[in-house]
Amino acid sequence: MSIEFSSMTDLKAPSFTGTQINYFLVCPTKLWLFSNNVTMESSSDLVGMGRFIHESSYPRERKNVIINSIGIDFIKKGDRITIHEVKKSKKLEEAHRYQVYYYIYYLQEVLGIRDVDGVLDYPTIRKREHLTLTDEIREDLERILRGIEEVVRLPQPPPPVKKTYCKKCAYYEFCWV
Ligand code: SF4
Repeated sequence: MSIEFSSMTDLKAPSFTGTQINYFLVCPTKLWLFSNNVTMESSSDLVGMGRFIHESSYPRERKNVIINSIGIDFIKKGDRITIHEVKKSKKLEEAHRYQVYYYIYYLQEVLGIRDVDGVLDYPTIRKREHLTLTDEIREDLERILRGIEEVVRLPQPPPPVKKTYCKKCAYYEFCWV
């Protein structure tokens, strides 16, 4: 992947959420709007559907583990810790992957927990993907975190760029109507 953002000072403990990692990769405009408290998500049917899938899947698991700025769908503990993120479709799978990579990174870098991996769960299509953090992905994440800092500090949102995803985005009317 190529992420074009200028380098900044050394990265501190990140305070971003997994949702911001996801939005950075999906759309910087969406990232800016969300990060600057322009929230339209609660009225979105798609978001409501995602919430329903999350709440009705894996009923035996403890849901929504909050650790500082990150909220993990659920965690399984065995020989190692496995982070689970539940999604409804694979359409934005790279953004989904980096959201999970960020949770793994956060537990490793910020909390010092070494034996961590991740799983992306797609219960509606009965698929799951196992994810581990490599050095290359760690470098990508650090570029993403710097990129998020740059976007959220902008005085106004980056101009929207139309993409097929826009029609499903809660900010569609904000950007295009
Ligand atoms: S409608 Fe499109 S351009 Fe606007 S925030 Fe959503 S994804 Fe980005």
